[in-house]
Amino acid sequence: MAYSDRRNIHDRGIGFAATTIVTLTVVSVLLITTCFVLHCKGLSHKPQPNPAIIPEDNQTTEQAQTPENEPEVAPEPTFLDVHFIDVGQADAALVSCDGHHMLIDGGNGTDSSLIFSYLRDHDIAHLDYIIATHVHEDHIGGLSGALNFASVSKVYCTTSEYDSKVFSNLVKYTEKHGAEIEIPSVGDEFMLGGASVKILAVNSTSEINDTSIVLKIVHGENSFIFTGDAERATEQIILESGEEIKADVLKVGHHGSENATTYPFLREIMPKYAVISVGEGNTYGHPTEAVLSRLRDAEATVLRTDFHGDIIFESDGMNLTVTTEK
Ligand SMILES: [Zn+2]
Repeated sequence: MAYSDRRNIHDRGIGFAATTIVTLTVVSVLLITTCFVLHCKGLSHKPQPNPAIIPEDNQTTEQAQTPENEPEVAPEPTFLDVHFIDVGQADAALVSCDGHHMLIDGGNGTDSSLIFSYLRDHDIAHLDYIIATHVHEDHIGGLSGALNFASVSKVYCTTSEYDSKVFSNLVKYTEKHGAEIEIPSVGDEFMLGGASVKILAVNSTSEINDTSIVLKIVHGENSFIFTGDAERATEQIILESGEEIKADVLKVGHHGSENATTYPFLREIMPKYAVISVGEGNTYGHPTEAVLSRLRDAEATVLRTDFHGDIIFESDGMNLTVTTEK
C-alpha cells in the first residue's frame, strides 16, 4: 500500500475514533441528565411522614420503606383525648381517638346516670371498646349507664362469670348490644383510631384487685398506663415481663392504696403525671401518704379527682396538655 493510502486510512481511523468519542460523550450526558431528573422526580413523590405520630428516631426507616411511586397524600392528623371522669371513690376514664371511643371502667352503680350523661353530652353513641378492669362495683357498677346510651363492639373483663348484681347487669346490657364479655390475653394489641392499646396484665393472681386488666396506650410520643386496682404482685409480674412501660401518664393503682405504685414499678414508668381517682373524705384513707411520698420522689405531677374534678389530657401525637374541671 502506498504511503498516501496508509495516511488516508490512518486519518479515517482518527476521524472514526473522534466521532465515537463525541457520540459516547453525548449519550453519557443524556443518561446522567435523565437519571438526575428521574431521581429528583422520585424524591418529590415520596410522601413525608407525619411528625405528629412517628417518633424522630423512626422517621428515616419510615421514609426508606415508602415505595417511590406512591402518590403524594397529606398525612391525616390524629388526636387523642383521655377524660378521667370524677366518679368519687371509683374509676372511670373515657378515651377518644379520631372518632373511636373506649371506656375504661364506669364508676359505681350510683354513677350510671353520670356516665350516661357524659356520653350523651360528648355525643358518643358508640363505644368501640369497654374495658371492665375487674369485677368490683366501683369499676363496673356504672357501665350499665354507658350501655343504656351507647352501643358497644367489644367488652373486655377478667371473667365472664361472677355472682353480683352489677356484674349480671353488665352481662345483660352487653348482650343487648349483640356483644359478649371477652377475656383478653397479655400481649394483645389493638388500635383505637391512631392510638395503639396493649394489654400488659390480666388475672395476674386470684386476688380480685390483682386480676385487674392493666394496659398501655401509645399515641405518637405520648403514652398512658391504666392499672385498675392492680397492686404489688401484678406490678412485679409486669416488671418481670420486661415490657416497655415508660409512660407520660400513670393512672395510679387502687386509688392510691399503699400496696400499689411501688418504687420499682414507678422507676420504670417515670410518669410526668400521676392521676389518682379518689373520693373526697373516703373511709379507706386513699390516697395514702406512702404513695403520695413515692410520687413526690418520682417528681410526678399529681392530679386527683377529689381536688381537680374531671381531668382531661389532649394529645396531637407530639404535645400533651392537661386541663382540669376545678
Ligand atoms: Zn377500685
